[in-house]
Amino acid sequence: MARTPVPGGWRAARLSQGRVAGYQPFVMVDGEGVRCSLYVSGCPFACDGCFNEAAWSFRYGEPYDEALADRVLADLAHEAVQGLSLLGGEPFLSTGVCLDVVGRLRAAHGRAKDVWCWTGYTFEELLAEVAAGQDDKAALLAELDVLVDGRFEIAERDLTLAFRGSRNQRVLDVPRSLAAGRAVPWAGA
Ligand code: SF4
Repeated sequence: MARTPVPGGWRAARLSQGRVAGYQPFVMVDGEGVRCSLYVSGCPFACDGCFNEAAWSFRYGEPYDEALADRVLADLAHEAVQGLSLLGGEPFLSTGVCLDVVGRLRAAHGRAKDVWCWTGYTFEELLAEVAAGQDDKAALLAELDVLVDGRFEIAERDLTLAFRGSRNQRVLDVPRSLAAGRAVPWAGA
């Protein structure tokens, strides 16, 4: 059974070591179109059947540094690339890494490239985090275009689903969800 967060209980400032489990440029499975995928290290949700258990440790992988940031930005500049995907681990507990790379993308490309993010939090749990004063989570949420939310639930596993592993997970349009104050499905889902 995956762990359930208490609002404000898990904080990137205490947990993140600024490390990434991996980086894959020019992939076509982590969202719509050709994408650059950054996998951050560290996830406390501990879902049964997690696809990337090695990345539960916040000390796993390599440091996110200038060289990696430059490489990601150079790859994102390729005209075939639609956008950046943030996966984990848990991106909302590596907000230092995620906000840095998204900030660089927005500075270079504005909203011409999109940002997708996979999180173990539900959208409603993220709103509760924001209400509890988690400004870094609010800042990351504000930068996203699409959010795939919720824990992986092995009893709900469905290999036919696009972009998600279990039926409880949702593919959400983040700007519309934030404007409405409730989860709004992404139109392409
Ligand atoms: S939230 Fe995702 S990365 Fe974290 S334990 Fe669950 S499946 Fe694994």
